[in-house]
Amino acid sequence: MPKISFKGGVHPKDHKHTTRYLHITNIPATKEIVLPLSQHIGGRSNPVVKPGDEVKIGDLIAESAGVVSANIHASVSGKVIAIEPRLHNSGYNVESVVIENDGKYTIGYTKEDNKWSDMSAHDIIERVKRGGIVGMGGATFPTHVKLAPPKDKPIDSVILNGAECEPYITSDHRLMLEFPEKVVVGLKIIMRALNANNGYIAIEENKRDAIDTIKAYIAPEDNIKVVTCAVKYPQGAEKTLIKAATKRLVPHGRLPMDVGVCVDNVATASAIYDIVVNNKPLVDRIVTVAGGAIKTPKNFCVPFGVPIGYLIEQAGGLNTADELAANSVIMGGPMMGVAQFSLDAPITKGSNALLALTDEEAFKGSETACLRCGKCIEACPMNLQPIRLYESGKLRDVGRARDASITDCIECGACTFVCPAKKHIVQYIRVMKSVLSKN
Ligand code: SF4
Ligand code: SF4
Repeated sequence: MPKISFKGGVHPKDHKHTTRYLHITNIPATKEIVLPLSQHIGGRSNPVVKPGDEVKIGDLIAESAGVVSANIHASVSGKVIAIEPRLHNSGYNVESVVIENDGKYTIGYTKEDNKWSDMSAHDIIERVKRGGIVGMGGATFPTHVKLAPPKDKPIDSVILNGAECEPYITSDHRLMLEFPEKVVVGLKIIMRALNANNGYIAIEENKRDAIDTIKAYIAPEDNIKVVTCAVKYPQGAEKTLIKAATKRLVPHGRLPMDVGVCVDNVATASAIYDIVVNNKPLVDRIVTVAGGAIKTPKNFCVPFGVPIGYLIEQAGGLNTADELAANSVIMGGPMMGVAQFSLDAPITKGSNALLALTDEEAFKGSETACLRCGKCIEACPMNLQPIRLYESGKLRDVGRARDASITDCIECGACTFVCPAKKHIVQYIRVMKSVLSKN
């Protein structure tokens, strides 16, 4: 089968060899767990517990507030000791539920083995909502909202994103290898909820073992295809994936549902399986801990709310005795991740990786004048002119940003990666988007 691809994109060194063969290992939680009430796009959840309350794993601690929001559950058993602002991995202080772990790991939900194929779409969506499932590829959009599109936007195709094109990260790769049934059944559950006939699982061709493993779980009558993607960044971006897999083009300013498609991450499908089949809410996730500054890179299954410094300790600590530069610890991948300035920030629902990079690996360097080389334009998968967007950000020029279609930018960072003048293009685009959101 021909490999699917898209225009533009870049080929950063993938650095995946350090963790791609490592089995997922469970780690215990820390004594104190910090669960921010904003771990998703949309309204902050409302706490339903108070200091002094005893909780068990899976107990609801905050309920979704408004249409676009998500429930949050306890990831350990113990006592709620505070509800107060704590540092979030976004860099902001966010109201959080703090739990003192009692070390007993008592489960508060009943384990089930449900026959999902007997469930109605309504029942599936209600379970997904109850389980607090959000997009786990990093987008963190509440999944129950995605599974209930407007009636005039029928979905006929569901694409599971297993491309995992960001360097270093192998958490989705290991998930597909170790829990293929959850991924495939999770996709079938999504298809049932949306009444969609076609399912695709998109995987980059450098994960041949995952492609073979997933294919083995797909029956001939399943209407599901594994699509092999070329190794190119950002292969996993939603609109490029839709174009590459279905040949449908999402018009400027429109959404996947406008072309009858829903895209979810493979980890989201697995979490949907957990709540629909086993009644397990979203309380943990797989996190790749890697980068040249990490002594023993790992793929961990991590309870939400543990601090990132603890994960680094569990991975053997840092290779260097020197304190890391502030921009060398990243939540997520090196292209789209968020630099961390404190190791106290917690792992949350969107945390697929934690990287500690050496100076050599980290993107560093001073900006110089634009060479007008056009490399950023060639690299942009969205057909934008990144240098124009950069200039609009520098000048805080709203009109210029809109003229250059800033809302179509997916913040993939491909332009920044190729720029020989080391211009911080995507950072200025983010600044400009933030300015626009306040206008
Ligand atoms: S302008 Fe946006 S979409 Fe285009 S390469 Fe840069 S970050 Fe990616
Ligand atoms: S890649 Fe960098 S130097 Fe080249 S045109 Fe774009 S901003 Fe200018």
